[in-house]
Amino acid sequence: EPALSIRGLTKVYGNGFEALKGIDLDVAQGDFFALLGPNGAGKSTTLGIVCSLVQKSAGQVSIFGIDIDRDFAKAKYHLGVVPQEFNFSQFEKVEDIILTQAGYYGMPMKEAKPRCEQLLKDLGLWDKRNGAARMLSGGMKRRLMIARALIHRPRLLILDEPTAGVDIELRRSMWEYMRRINQEEGTSIILTTHYLEEAESLCRNIAIINQGEIVKNTSIRELLTEL
Ligand code: ADP
Ligand code: ADP
Repeated sequence: EPALSIRGLTKVYGNGFEALKGIDLDVAQGDFFALLGPNGAGKSTTLGIVCSLVQKSAGQVSIFGIDIDRDFAKAKYHLGVVPQEFNFSQFEKVEDIILTQAGYYGMPMKEAKPRCEQLLKDLGLWDKRNGAARMLSGGMKRRLMIARALIHRPRLLILDEPTAGVDIELRRSMWEYMRRINQEEGTSIILTTHYLEEAESLCRNIAIINQGEIVKNTSIRELLTEL
């Protein structure tokens, strides 16, 4: 079954605004998939529904064949999510943020500790493990959120505009890391972006969303031959 399957997904917000107009989307296992579109297109709304943070108005969403309406508790174990915005409370330490997340997924500490160490090292945060998350730079906070999302070894990683506002050097190193977990660990990845360049450099398949509708859904290779 696909990593993610979306059918007839509609969202009408409380003010009557129709942010999604019945979209269909499939993301295969092992894919690196971009949801591309301008600001306000409906990208965050789509991801919000997949993560059960936003309530859908109609339609169906399945994660590895699990309907999120039937059993989101089970589906969520397959999901790692890096939100666009995040706040850390005042004294939360880097390492604790990741270990707390591990606890939330019921991971035994014996397993979580070495996994956490590995992630912090891979993401260049090992030296900061005892520091307050609040004091990290923007780029480090983002990498911390990636480590937090990956602690329980999700099969599908979802990132909402992962490199927005990140400088070119860090963007490259984040690209490198995402490529690695997709290729070496086989993690399926979906990211949203409004940079075609980012989708082009990283992803295999792409859907373009505009005003709540999927206007194109193809491989990057196909898309580039059309341009
Ligand atoms: P729902 O209809 O899903 O319950 P609401 O309309 O109640 O959603 O809005 C949820 C939150 O989003 C509120 O805090 C609201 O202030 C905020 N919000 C409202 N309009 C917008 C908008 N255009 N873009 C982003 N957030 C918005
Ligand atoms: P994107 O992530 O592609 O920038 P969003 O999914 O955040 O787009 O928003 C899609 C549309 O829905 C936008 O027009 C936005 O203003 C509107 N919107 C988002 N959240 C709310 C909300 N809570 N209430 C009303 N409208 C919203």
